Amino acid sequence: MRFGTPYDEIYVDDAFVPEKEARLSVLANAVSYGTGTFEGVRALWNPGQQELYLLEAGAHYVRMGRSARILGLDLPHGPGHLVGVTAELLRRNGVRGDAYVRPLLLQAGEQLAVRMHDSGTRLYIAATPMPGDYIDRRGVRCAVSTWRRAVDTTVPGRAKVTGGYVGPSLAKSEAIRNGFDEAIMLTADGYVAEATTSNILLRTGRDWATPSPADDILDGITRRLVARLLGELAGAAVTERRVHRSELYACDEALLCGTAALVAPVVEVDGRRVGDGRPGEATLAVQSALDAISRRRDPRHPEWTTPVYGGA
Ligand code: PMP
Repeated sequence: MRFGTPYDEIYVDDAFVPEKEARLSVLANAVSYGTGTFEGVRALWNPGQQELYLLEAGAHYVRMGRSARILGLDLPHGPGHLVGVTAELLRRNGVRGDAYVRPLLLQAGEQLAVRMHDSGTRLYIAATPMPGDYIDRRGVRCAVSTWRRAVDTTVPGRAKVTGGYVGPSLAKSEAIRNGFDEAIMLTADGYVAEATTSNILLRTGRDWATPSPADDILDGITRRLVARLLGELAGAAVTERRVHRSELYACDEALLCGTAALVAPVVEVDGRRVGDGRPGEATLAVQSALDAISRRRDPRHPEWTTPVYGGA
């Protein structure tokens, strides 16, 4: 799907301003050097309750604080405050539908200097409507990319760095050009890392596995929720370990998960069917449970969600 245009108001450095005024100079260091960090937070609408819920918003701002620290930048507020700002942004925009919130901490200085220090930052939070699927949740056909995941010693993997998305962008376009839906990226030394903007979990027999952060993945927040639900719904324990490329071809079930993707079954990798080529049972169970929990249609794990309107 394509994102819609952003909602009218954006948060910029402690103020809410019209989207058109939330500008960054083309000379800002973040534009040339990719020096900034960002997050994505899901807001999911429950029409029965007329309520909008943020999914694990606090965890996203905790990760953003860590990303900033890795980069040596300063995130000016803590997670609690930023979750409150996010809810206020959505209320001010009257958001009543599924949306995607995009917090951005960018190097806004315009000096001709490639460095992290002494360049002012600006904090933005924007929201866009996100009706429908970001990636087809009925089944994804993947290709292993010729582009590798950046190693932590080149672009820090634990930080969600704006400049770190050049490789995933190349990988995604390569996959689409070759007739697939999504790319799976390997580590520089050839182990499975993750898809372009989502993590991967796979099952062989009863063994569920997922690569660990030591294999240069972004330590996904959705991945933790999915592992928890696999335990609760399917009695499965997910092992974080190195995963070989050939396991992608031999596995019985695989899924992608992320804030935008939520949970999507992988039905094919490099022209080989995953399992019998249909979405896995546990994957579908977790997909629908996470959707219901995210909208509080299911009473389990209310600690994962924050109401936007009722909380006001
Ligand atoms: N890997 C990458 C590279 C991503 O950009 C994302 C999306 N943030 C993920 C994995 C999934 O992480 P999360 O579940 O926290 O959105």
